[in-house]
This record gives sequence, C-alpha cells and structure tokens, in this order.
Amino acid sequence: MVSADAWVLFSQLILLLIIVFIAVVILIFLSLLVYWRTGRVFVPRVLIFAMGLVESPLRMLMRLFRIEDKKLDYAIISIRNNLYRPTFAKVPYARRAIFIPQCLRSPECPAKLSPEGIQCVNCGRCGLGELKKFCNSLGCMFFITASSTFIQRMVLKYKPEAILGVGCSLELREGSDMIAKIGMPAQGVLLKRSGCVNTRVDLERLMHTIALSEVETGLTDSIRSAIADIKDNIANMWKPDECPKETADVKTDFTKRIKLVKQKRSSNL
Ligand code: SF4
Repeated sequence: MVSADAWVLFSQLILLLIIVFIAVVILIFLSLLVYWRTGRVFVPRVLIFAMGLVESPLRMLMRLFRIEDKKLDYAIISIRNNLYRPTFAKVPYARRAIFIPQCLRSPECPAKLSPEGIQCVNCGRCGLGELKKFCNSLGCMFFITASSTFIQRMVLKYKPEAILGVGCSLELREGSDMIAKIGMPAQGVLLKRSGCVNTRVDLERLMHTIALSEVETGLTDSIRSAIADIKDNIANMWKPDECPKETADVKTDFTKRIKLVKQKRSSNL
C-alpha cells in the first residue's frame, strides 16, 4: 500500500512539474516577443531546442494573443539561418547543394523530370534557367526538386556539406528540422508568394545567400555584376510581389550588415 505521505509528495511533484512547464512556455513566448520586436535572440540554440519541446502549448498561447501560427515557423527558420550562416559561408561553393521548388517554374515549362530532378533547358519562360547558370558558374550543385524525398536522395548521393532550400514556411520548417537533425549547415529562403504554381522568390536575396562567402560581404566584383545582370534579365519573367514581413526584415538585415562591413573596411584603409 502506498502511504498518504507518498501520495502527497507525488502530487506536489506533479504540480511542480506543471508549474515549471508553464513557466518555460511563458519564458519562450517572451523571448519570441523580444525577437519579433528587436530581432535579438539570446542563446539561440537553447531557444530553438526548447521551442521544439513545447511547440503545441506555445502555439496555443500565440493563438490566445492572436499571433499567426506561421510567425513561429518564420522565427525558427530565421533564427536557424542566422545560427548557421557563418558555417554555411565557409563551405566551398562546389560542396553546396541548392534546392529550388518546381512551383517557381513557368506553368508552360517544357523541362522533363529525371532521377536528378527537373532538367531545366533554359527556355526563357521563367528565371530558373538564369539562376541555374549562376549556380553553375559558381560551381554549386543545382536541383529543381519534385518532392521532399528527392532532397534526401540527392543528399545521400552527392553528400554536400551545406544546403540551401527555397520554399514556403511549411516546407522550409520541415526541411530545416530534417537538416538540423543531421547537423549540416543550411540556409532557407522563403518564397515571397507561396502556393503550388507560379510562386515567387526574392531573387536578389536568394543569389546573395547562394554566394555567401567566408568574409560575408566578400562577393567578388564578377559575382556582384552577375547578380545584377541576372536580376535585370529576369525582372520581366518574375514580377516582384509583396514580401512577408519576416523576409523583408532579413533582407534589411543583410543590407545593414553590408553597410557596416563597408564602413569597417574603409576605416581600416
Ligand atoms: S527556364 Fe523555367 S520554364 Fe524554362 S525550362 Fe527552365 S524551369 Fe522550365
């Protein structure tokens, strides 16, 4: 027979655990509020790990405050991007694999599906042909994906050391969880307009992320001019569209960092 004292102790322990759990959820929620307001995050690795543990109650709490669900996915993708950016930048271009979703293609795309993904023939109906040329000129592996299992297959086959994926918040979140498990540095670029067809991406940001180098703004002049040319070439193929705020913030962040490094460089001259 279990004594009455043991039951009291047990129920107190359960109560304590519930209080600690609620406190952790509130603490993470507050950290997220700080992140959304200031863009600052303390101990990002711990925060990401803890968010994964209490995701469901965290989402419930967010709904209570009428915060959209996708904001949490944006936050996780963005925090992971910042966390892995320096390691990603150190990986040589030839060891980077770029995965582009097929929904970015023109609906009239003539490309055929192959075991290596969709084989773009640069027909000029969308910007992916130019993007492929840009990636090839750097030496990156470039794939137009047909499914998420395709990414796993290509990772196993080509063993890249870094991955860049483009997708909607749901796909990126899923992909980023998967890549985080294998500990590979990854960058996710959100689609500006999601959906299953005729989607859009912020091309300039995508090319800058693909070309990230160890010295973050150390893009060579030729890469810079290639980015500018491609952007102009395909301006009419992919019309700009409204960005989700999170994407816009990340871009502003990038521009700010470029400015800072430029200032630093000129003061060193
Ligand atoms: S440029 Fe676009 S539409 Fe043309 S083949 Fe390549 S992916 Fe398809």
